[in-house]
Amino acid sequence: MMGLQVIEVHAKSVLNRAPTGYGFRWTLNPYRGCQHACVYCFARYTHTFFDLDPGEAFSRVIFVKINAVQALRRELRRSTWRHEHVAIGTATDPYQPLEGRYRLMPGIIRTLADFYTPFSIVTKNTMILRDIPVLQEAARRVSLTVTLSLTTLDPALARELEPDTPPPAQRLRVAQTLQAHGIPTGIALAPILPGLTDGEAQLRELIEAITTHGLPIAFFQVLRLYDATRPTLFAYLSQHHPRLLAAYRRGYVAKDPPATYVRQLYEQVERLLREAGASRLTPPETPPLQQPLPLLTENTAPPEAARPSRAQERASPAVDSCSTAGSPFSQGDTSPTADLPPPSTAL
Ligand code: SF4
Repeated sequence: MMGLQVIEVHAKSVLNRAPTGYGFRWTLNPYRGCQHACVYCFARYTHTFFDLDPGEAFSRVIFVKINAVQALRRELRRSTWRHEHVAIGTATDPYQPLEGRYRLMPGIIRTLADFYTPFSIVTKNTMILRDIPVLQEAARRVSLTVTLSLTTLDPALARELEPDTPPPAQRLRVAQTLQAHGIPTGIALAPILPGLTDGEAQLRELIEAITTHGLPIAFFQVLRLYDATRPTLFAYLSQHHPRLLAAYRRGYVAKDPPATYVRQLYEQVERLLREAGASRLTPPETPPLQQPLPLLTENTAPPEAARPSRAQERASPAVDSCSTAGSPFSQGDTSPTADLPPPSTAL
């Protein structure tokens, strides 16, 4: 395995406009690349902007926007800022291990709160517990949510899929702890991986574990498979689940699996959520337009950045990786995987 290479950059801006339809208007990712190395991560393609390998280099060459706090403050200070929802961690995990060294998130959270800007955070990492006091302070001033993403309760499968992340049970406890400290927190079932985590029993068990922990569901989403992620995911399937490989090749002709499968999967999840009496995490609300009252006034804007460029940032998708069923992909000797027929179980 290659060693970790950290590249510090000064970003000209850190807010990126999200396409419509995601429920938030802006995204913010203080890091590019992610040490968590999930095999399905859609954001791998962002490393190709720098002629870097979206495979191993995605998790071993990490760009750190070391002026993220200052750049954010500069952007929020503008008179045109509308205090719209900023989604953090849509392309990389803001609490990946390097955050322990750079500590960008406390300043980002304080800055958003200073400017009365609602925000959401998606992560898989326990490090967010470090920032409970900062989040509590922010929650007194702005609407915010935290989401822990989960794919499975099975620690062995999670270790395969998400090699450098805390085990599922630990993520549930982290979410519970945040919730207990008054920080609105939920769980995302994302991504749901056909044939691997989409079984009726698996989903039921996962949803019941979430509700048993007293946690709401933030969102759920089937795997979207970007071209740059295919080699990593297919290498993983070849090694660990070879019987699924052909089905994935057929099922993922495009980024999304067949619409029939997706519809049935989502109906199944909705049914299981109803049966479990699961609640939903309320997204952050944008406040009525008001004058920002920043507590801090320093402007320590660093040299303006070259990398990543604004155009490249815009090219980043808005939906989190992290963010992101007996089924047509069902694995195992007894499960046909030839094509993508309707799931044997509803949804
Ligand atoms: S899915 Fe999320 S946690 Fe996993 S590598 Fe991608 S950004 Fe990191």
